[in-house]
Amino acid sequence: MTVKLYEADPYLIEFTATVTKVDGDWVVLDRTAFYPGGGGQEHDHGTLDGREVTGVKGKGEISHLVPGHGLTVGSQVKGMLDWSDRYALMRAHTGEHLLFSVLSKRTEMELVKIALSREKKVLIVKGHLDWEMVRDAVHEVNDIIVKGAEVTCQHVDRENMGEGGPRVKLDRITDRMVRVVSIGEHDSAACAGVHLRNAKEVGMLLVSKFTSAKPAGDWEIEFQVGPEAVRTAVDHSVRSLMLAERLGALPQDSLTAFDNRERELTRAREALKVYGKMALSSLLPEKLGEWNFYSGSFTGLDRKLVMEKANEMVAAGSSVAALVCQDDKTFLVLACSTDVKLDCVSILNSVLSNHGGRGGGKPNFASGGTPGQIEPHVLLDKISLLLKNR
Ligand SMILES: [Zn+2]
Repeated sequence: MTVKLYEADPYLIEFTATVTKVDGDWVVLDRTAFYPGGGGQEHDHGTLDGREVTGVKGKGEISHLVPGHGLTVGSQVKGMLDWSDRYALMRAHTGEHLLFSVLSKRTEMELVKIALSREKKVLIVKGHLDWEMVRDAVHEVNDIIVKGAEVTCQHVDRENMGEGGPRVKLDRITDRMVRVVSIGEHDSAACAGVHLRNAKEVGMLLVSKFTSAKPAGDWEIEFQVGPEAVRTAVDHSVRSLMLAERLGALPQDSLTAFDNRERELTRAREALKVYGKMALSSLLPEKLGEWNFYSGSFTGLDRKLVMEKANEMVAAGSSVAALVCQDDKTFLVLACSTDVKLDCVSILNSVLSNHGGRGGGKPNFASGGTPGQIEPHVLLDKISLLLKNR
């Protein structure tokens, strides 16, 4: 058994210990301040006699992965934690207890997964949540952090845990005595992890991402704590102010302003579609030998609509349609009736390739574009010339 120094004193950074077992690069100590990970939190990092500890594992007996250690049983070693990493994880872990607890008060929620690492802090939950609930919960968590709340640990007999007691999944715990961590009056949960002494030390908690986590759970909630949370909050706030300025609205009205813009855009797109259809339908063919040749260019029209119309134009037989759709690029469609024996793909590519573009399709229908804008008549005149010379 390894004495878990981190349980009694999670603020212990340095310690001395004796090696009790060696297995390759893995070293077991009689006592350790290295948290082996658990409860979704990753293991600690640091050094043993100056050599990097790259892994920590175990429950009763704790092993430390120290590549090239050169230690033997009985060696006295000095361990040192990477404190900035550990402290950040303690902040995140304590913050996670508060966040989950405060969210659970608002809605029935089930915890699916916790993942707390140096890079990312994530909660995956099942339950009915929305942005407003998340915002209110984050406000409440930060109120608790500002006021402060003492974090305490006690061992409670599993027989004495009933309704209204601490959050616990007894099926995951084998010991009779369960370690219960409480944060003032705000939360009480079974946990074997490392926590702060006081919620005040979290500094600040910020939800930085709230997205669907299906099928694993309903929601993935990514959060940040401490100075990292403050930096992100300032960045997000400035971006939100910049966006509000562009929308010509106050920050608190920017969502409504965005919705209004979106409605305007939808209406404009619908109008464009109606007028586009009218413009395409009014296109008259010229005679090219025995063929009807439709040729025209349209700015800002939906490409799908232009392709549909090209197909309609050649459906009656003995017809060719060359249509250009112009936006920030130039898009060309070439279609012919089945009785017109043309290879639309090769004609289209011979025209587009002069301008760095290309396309594909079938012998009677091809489409493609150029990387930039090309005057439509340049493409259409070339096609007309190729068809006349056949
Ligand atoms: Zn915990």
